[in-house]
Amino acid sequence: MLKIFVLEVICLNKEVRVRFAPSPTGVLHIGGARTALYNWLFARHHGGKFILRIEDTDKNRSTEEAIKAINISLKWLGLDWDEGPEIEGSYGPYRQTERLPFYEETVKKLINAGMAYKCYCSPEELEKRRKSALKAGKPPGYDGRCKKLTEKEQKNYEREGRNCAIRFACPKEEKTIVSDVIRGDILFQNSVLEDFVLIRSNGLPTYNFAAVVDDAAMKITHVIRGIDHLSNTPKQILLYLTLDLPVPAFAHLPMILGSDGKPLSKRHGATSVEEYKKEGYLPEAILNYLALLGWSYDEKTTIFSIQDLIEKFSLEKVSKNPAIFDNTKLQWMNGCYIRELSTDKLTDFLIPIWVDAGFFEKSSDFGIEKLKMITTLVQERMKCLTDVLELTDFFFKEEIEIESKVADKVLRKPEVLRVLKTASDKLKEIEKFDIENVEAVLRSIPAELDIKPKFVFQPIRVAVTGKTVSPPLFETIEVFGKKKTLKRLKLAQGVVES
Ligand code: GLU
Repeated sequence: MLKIFVLEVICLNKEVRVRFAPSPTGVLHIGGARTALYNWLFARHHGGKFILRIEDTDKNRSTEEAIKAINISLKWLGLDWDEGPEIEGSYGPYRQTERLPFYEETVKKLINAGMAYKCYCSPEELEKRRKSALKAGKPPGYDGRCKKLTEKEQKNYEREGRNCAIRFACPKEEKTIVSDVIRGDILFQNSVLEDFVLIRSNGLPTYNFAAVVDDAAMKITHVIRGIDHLSNTPKQILLYLTLDLPVPAFAHLPMILGSDGKPLSKRHGATSVEEYKKEGYLPEAILNYLALLGWSYDEKTTIFSIQDLIEKFSLEKVSKNPAIFDNTKLQWMNGCYIRELSTDKLTDFLIPIWVDAGFFEKSSDFGIEKLKMITTLVQERMKCLTDVLELTDFFFKEEIEIESKVADKVLRKPEVLRVLKTASDKLKEIEKFDIENVEAVLRSIPAELDIKPKFVFQPIRVAVTGKTVSPPLFETIEVFGKKKTLKRLKLAQGVVES
């Protein structure tokens, strides 16, 4: 109760400022997208600011392509930022490699206060000591030896040409309490924390240091991030306290697991926003699904518009328990959003997918009205946009192939030849080849030949589409037009006789 009260006070008195701070080492993953979304929703709900900060101080792993890819994915999802790359605000720059003077200035303060020191140990030496400490059953963390160096010893190391890192003289007494908005108070003994590095020997800051300096400089009020960062939080709190900076509120989001209970990874299928976009998911569906991946409003509502989410989102309703990523549910949700689209809009989405698959070069080749008709025929059955290829390929192919299994099962049967011939003869006579006439003519066949409707319509369906399951038959035939329908019925007769 108290926690909620404290959070509300923070929200009411100050403008909410939150940030999404990706390390640009790859594309935007589902986990990152959910973190961005929760931050964005929290900012929008409170009328605050959502900041994008690029944490690119790991030079070996950060790339320009990743920065671009993350920006593109966030924009595609509609998670617009108020300050960050391309949108300058009062607290920039928003890329950590452009903020080095801030870190230098802060580390100087810490050194002067005796709260940070130069460490000349080489990576090899550290590794060797770590291993022998582990062997001896001792804590493997840094043993603090450079903290005691005299000025002379430091000079000697420098003369040797050794580079130095800067370490935090981490207070070892007492404990640090992380007051997590979602999880309550979590207690950490400071004695288990080592003197962690603030500035690496290459002059670049570490994540823990840069994040604190920037979150303070950017006036971040709430740090909302994945639970994997929980172990960093006490270190960061100690830095805030040592620097006499206000500590933001923290909210650690639950893990995302695959359906087998293991952390979500490539093994579970697509994991990046880019992949989902390519597979034909709509951004609204992804946002809706991600919102429910660790948050729920009333345990039963599943479909939320963005506006609903902004209105209803709160950190208090975020779960402590891991969330299970369920691809089937996401597909179902995407299907719901596809069904909500207007024919024009959905056709606009489908045209590039048809073009990429080589079904036609431009929509005018096929006729936009026909494309819209096809769209309405399959809209109900699509779970993602790319499903359209399999559902509609027979509309575009000049010739279809009927699988021999299907031919045996449906076409090579007594009476089928008679059905197909009758259908051809009757359809040939139609002057205005529209749905009403096509339907009337085909519906007259079962009675006329005294054959059950199923045994009339199924062979015709297979003849014109090559499939046993297809969009509604009469509409499909209307889209084909007379010439193409007659041609396919004829070819199918050949198959029956073969
Ligand atoms: N750069 C960190 C990451 O991508 C950010 C963590 C944080 O939000 O503090 O995991």
